[in-house]
Amino acid sequence: MVRNDGSRGRGWLLRTFLVGVICAPALVCAPSPAFAVGEAGSKCSSFDERSQRTASDDVLLVDRAWRRTQYLAAGAYVTTECDDVGRPIREVTMALYPLPDGSRTYLPARTVHVEDGQRVEVDVTRGDMRAFRGDLPRVLAEAEAAGLPPNRSSKLSKAGAATRARLRPRHRKRALDYLNKCSDTTASYTNNRWWTGFGYYTNWNSLGASYRTDFTNQVMAGFHTWQFRTNYCGFSTSPEWIATAWLGDTNAVATNNGSTPVNNGINVVDFGYLGGGCAAALACTWKALDGGLGYAYANIRLNWDYGWSIGAQAPTHFDIWGVAAHEAGHALGAGDLYNGSASGQIMYYQAGFNESGRYLGAGDRRFLYDLYANYGN
Ligand SMILES: [Zn+2]
Repeated sequence: MVRNDGSRGRGWLLRTFLVGVICAPALVCAPSPAFAVGEAGSKCSSFDERSQRTASDDVLLVDRAWRRTQYLAAGAYVTTECDDVGRPIREVTMALYPLPDGSRTYLPARTVHVEDGQRVEVDVTRGDMRAFRGDLPRVLAEAEAAGLPPNRSSKLSKAGAATRARLRPRHRKRALDYLNKCSDTTASYTNNRWWTGFGYYTNWNSLGASYRTDFTNQVMAGFHTWQFRTNYCGFSTSPEWIATAWLGDTNAVATNNGSTPVNNGINVVDFGYLGGGCAAALACTWKALDGGLGYAYANIRLNWDYGWSIGAQAPTHFDIWGVAAHEAGHALGAGDLYNGSASGQIMYYQAGFNESGRYLGAGDRRFLYDLYANYGN
């Protein structure tokens, strides 16, 4: 269900309860000289306040006056930083990703910040880094530097660590494939949406003319995954829910420096360097709000330091269509899913070497239906 009437829902009640019990002044929330405890803490609400995450995964474990960490599924967490009157300044979601040596590390999966008065959301898509062709240690350091560690000063961070340890073994060997694709209806989205259709341009300049047709067609296929299709799960979608359209080639870029968006006044999908919080990512989507609930623009870049092909080839090439479909989901307003049962959905946070991302799962379809077809009902 989409809440657009200002109601607060269970997440708010849970947070209020925890804040009230745990952050009573002079108990756990040790005051910082610069902040008034309690008052500011109660207002340091996440940018994601209205996110429709799976309720059982959405447990707030740490709360301080100026920073709040909320654990999601599979060890992922969201840390929100606030100013001294409790307004959110920056939100970073960190998730665990496998390294080529078999270990796992936390890297940014999503950031939200305010830029030129606009709220900018950055969705980072990561996958198996064996397919990375650049200097992986260097870019990993860059990505890690852009992250935010969880709060560690509260007693409750121990509970957070315990949660992560408990979640780890359960998710470690989960295959990133078609598991539960047709049955799991987990979805993550807010009320933010496009009010009319989504039109986008592609910039293939960096690829060379011979790849132009393939790049453009595969990106278009990714967007078409969300409409015009009845897939093997039996799901059909209607272009009346949300229409997407390729508007042509452009010289405009999604980003200049690989870490911040360029607002061209249009939506751009291109191919090039990614850095900052997007370093070592397969792709990034930047989108900004228009001041209300609508999006002003969404830019997508695929990372040229990865191997790409039409059809995945483990462990060296990702499927352009499938990853483009995941980014298209972000552009339309979908958030990543971290719970293991959602690993068959397009919006699962980790891309695998398969073509599963070409087809809507039950949760993917639910997002599209709830946000666009059933809006306000
Ligand atoms: Zn994503």
